[in-house]
Amino acid sequence: MTSGAFAEMLRMSFSDREKPMKYYLGSDVGGTNISSAVADRDGNIVSRVTIPAGAHRGIEEITRDICASSMDAAGQAGLGMDAFSYWGIGMPSCINPKTRLLVHANCFRWRNADVFSYLKKYVSLPIYIENDANCAVLGEQQAGAAKGFENVLLLTIGTGFGSGIIIDGKIFAGADGMGAELGHTKLVYDGVQCTCGQYGCAESYCSATALIRQMREKTGDYVSDITAKGIMDRAEGGDPAALEAVDKYTDYLACGMSTFITILRPEVIILGGGVSQSGEFFYDMIRKKLPGRTFSGAEIGVPEIRRALLGNDAGIIGAAFLGEHRGRHLIPG
Ligand SMILES: [Zn+2]
Repeated sequence: MTSGAFAEMLRMSFSDREKPMKYYLGSDVGGTNISSAVADRDGNIVSRVTIPAGAHRGIEEITRDICASSMDAAGQAGLGMDAFSYWGIGMPSCINPKTRLLVHANCFRWRNADVFSYLKKYVSLPIYIENDANCAVLGEQQAGAAKGFENVLLLTIGTGFGSGIIIDGKIFAGADGMGAELGHTKLVYDGVQCTCGQYGCAESYCSATALIRQMREKTGDYVSDITAKGIMDRAEGGDPAALEAVDKYTDYLACGMSTFITILRPEVIILGGGVSQSGEFFYDMIRKKLPGRTFSGAEIGVPEIRRALLGNDAGIIGAAFLGEHRGRHLIPG
């Protein structure tokens, strides 16, 4: 080894040791709010800025505000934008890796939008943009219920049915970033029409909306203000109609989950969204139904089912860590 190379090695090992605390910058952009946050390396949120999205406005103004919120979050943490090696953004959409355009964001009525060029007017960092459900699974894996696991499935069961998949530590979203939409896999041939326009999707049978529909069909009550939580509570209390509806609903959910398990065999399945807030009664029902309905479930078992821990913060924390665990479809702009 030359003395120059030795000096370089020494310099590198010293600079590694003296590295300042690393921080991560993430944003969560939805139709109602834009949130930006700085997280430390353990996924703890150090600062956060939330502003109204103002979704009726043009792309120029919205992207300017997204940038401003990230700079404000950095400022509140006492950091300049040069403290970060990249910026991650979660959106209800994804970037087409071929065109580098945002495919569609229905909340803003954007179609094939050149979001990167707008954001780059204000922020020169490499920018990762990922679907918000994929950010949520990364957040749970980084700092929540799936910490320590490399193969994770997150199902977000609320008004809709979202999903995020991590395989061998990386987000999986298919070759073009449009994959991992488990809510739109088909559960019933020619079944109920889904919000996506197709028929028989898992979302139409396993979402909170679906549970409410199933309860209404059972009772014939289309008038009362029923919530998924209300149905779960009534079922747990022994109400026969609610119990029957939840039994049917968990049949569909277990059936959908068994398919996902058969394809992915994750180490853990995290349930998020409103339905995940149900009591142990609901979890016991799912855990009891799954092994018998899953390929080799009786012999080798099924993954552990856990409740998500981070709630709405999962997306923003995951966004902040996009550059660390990126999937192959995720190329920074
Ligand atoms: Zn669908």
